[in-house]
Amino acid sequence: MEVIFVLRKCVNCNKQSSWYKIYKYFLWLHNKSIECDNCGAEHKISIPGRFAFVSLTVIPAIIFMNYLSPFGNFFVTLGIGIVILTVGSLLTPYFVEFKEAV
Ligand SMILES: [Zn+2]
Repeated sequence: MEVIFVLRKCVNCNKQSSWYKIYKYFLWLHNKSIECDNCGAEHKISIPGRFAFVSLTVIPAIIFMNYLSPFGNFFVTLGIGIVILTVGSLLTPYFVEFKEAV
């Protein structure tokens, strides 16, 4: 089993990608590839990686807002849902997998 909290390495030269780089990828550019700083090899996030992103962000937020919220106030619940989304997205770079872009 791989150690969690290790960022993905370049499939070509084994250099670790920066957290920010992966995070940025998720924020805007799902279709662009991630380029290695060291050797320029291009990577994409694997399909399970995209799934991990959704399960860390959207799913917990929805579950919390629908079932777990102890607050009667819709806006408080929504606010916390957004916090869950944000925290989940911050963790995503640690869980995604790279594959070589073709
Ligand atoms: Zn590389």
